[in-house]
Amino acid sequence: MIENSAGFIEQRVSEFISRSKELGIKVTPQRVAIYKELASTDQHPSTEIIYNKIRDYYPNISLTTVYRTLETFEKLGLISVVNVLYNAARYDANLDPHHHIVCTQCKKVEDVYDESFTNLDVSEKTLGDYKVEGYSVLLSGVCIDCR
Ligand SMILES: [Zn+2]
Ligand SMILES: [Zn+2]
Repeated sequence: MIENSAGFIEQRVSEFISRSKELGIKVTPQRVAIYKELASTDQHPSTEIIYNKIRDYYPNISLTTVYRTLETFEKLGLISVVNVLYNAARYDANLDPHHHIVCTQCKKVEDVYDESFTNLDVSEKTLGDYKVEGYSVLLSGVCIDCR
């Protein structure tokens, strides 16, 4: 659960701005608006959802711009992508280690915090030649609204 207070969002946004400056990417008002939209929710929105909200402030913005901006943020590690099978990418401003559950009916994505997932014991045989840098667990199920 994230705390959706204004102060919390502002804190995320100011961290985002200083991180962007460190990484040498331009901090435009439009980029900040896109990040802030994502930082204000724990719903793991898709590009389309963010785009529809951003249009309230930037009526001329294109879906492609929002898409590319999110992609840039993701590559720079400013946000993360929740991979939902057979569905569009869903974005997350929460970079704390956590996992997700997706409703197979309405595709809602919620955060899961479980210590046992955080200490998964994966055998080296499974990993082959990879040096694992991180992982997240994606659970699927049917949410209370869809049941
Ligand atoms: Zn559901
Ligand atoms: Zn999340």
